[in-house]
Amino acid sequence: ESKRCGRGRFTFFDAELDKRMKRRLEIEHQLPIALKSGELFMVYQSKNSIESGEILGFEALMRLNSRSLGAVGPAEFIEIAEENGFIEELGRFALRQGCEDLARFQAIGGRSLTMAINVSVRQLLDDSIVGYTRQMITDNRLDPATLELEITESLLAENLALVMPRLEQLRALGLSLTIDDFGTGYSSLSYLTRFPVATLKIDKCFIDELEKHANDATVVRTIIQMGHALGLKVVAEGLELESQWRILRQFGCDVGQGYLFSKPLDFDQAERLLQTTAKIPLLRPAREDH
Ligand code: C2E
Ligand code: MG
Ligand code: MG
Ligand code: MG
Repeated sequence: ESKRCGRGRFTFFDAELDKRMKRRLEIEHQLPIALKSGELFMVYQSKNSIESGEILGFEALMRLNSRSLGAVGPAEFIEIAEENGFIEELGRFALRQGCEDLARFQAIGGRSLTMAINVSVRQLLDDSIVGYTRQMITDNRLDPATLELEITESLLAENLALVMPRLEQLRALGLSLTIDDFGTGYSSLSYLTRFPVATLKIDKCFIDELEKHANDATVVRTIIQMGHALGLKVVAEGLELESQWRILRQFGCDVGQGYLFSKPLDFDQAERLLQTTAKIPLLRPAREDH
């Protein structure tokens, strides 16, 4: 009896494992093809002032819309690319496309619009990213202060000694560094004072339940206070509701990003968003009733 169950379970896991291995191999195989064919591309989600609602800039997010696999989320394909090393190629693509598109957005929305680009810790292990980033800034005649690199906290803490020189070199180009998904890593807070960072981006998981759980609100308020005390800008990600916006406004959070303001948009849609918001009154959170 138990033998049959055991064998059954084993067969099930075996088939499941096989399926996952095949998908993984297929994604690995498709990534370089997709990069050449345009099946891999960047979309842009606005970052808005918490105070006024105005668009301050965008975050560049990668998309894979594969002919053979359909849409594959970045959470899945970025991890695979990080493991097999293709992330370096993808990272250069994100930097090149993000900088080119930032120059075009600035032509519409003004020279102070910013672009945040996600960078994997793996890209920071050798110094080629520094020269490449400098090249993208000069090729597109960007003010380096309008370029922002987002680095996820979890991988940062454990590799800090290795990547620190790279972070310093990137900072020296005049761009700014952001700790992404802040609050989800295992890290100690001690690196915050040594890390040449300008912005903390509070992870979506704390924003989701902001109104429902007093503890989440306390964590968010405390991160904002601590960030400001350290001279850092604080961004909230995954902002979906007006009620969340109102609370973040009370807490003095600087920047919000989420479906409330805009979903990630392709280049043309983002360009149109900039053209129309330049003409209409800004979105504002509803007044609070006391
Ligand atoms: P992230 O950098 O933390 O990006 C924010 C994620 O939250 C994005 O997911 C975005 O679409 C999603 N999001 C934003 N606002 C809302 C909201 O209001 N509600 C909900 N439900 N979701 C929201 P996405 O695009 O699937 O990206 C997932 C992760 O993949 C990113 O997290 C980032 O870590 C990674 N990633 C994406 N593009 C790149 C890239 O070009 N390079 C690297 N290295 N990583 C990337
Ligand atoms: Mg990010
Ligand atoms: Mg994030
Ligand atoms: Mg996140």
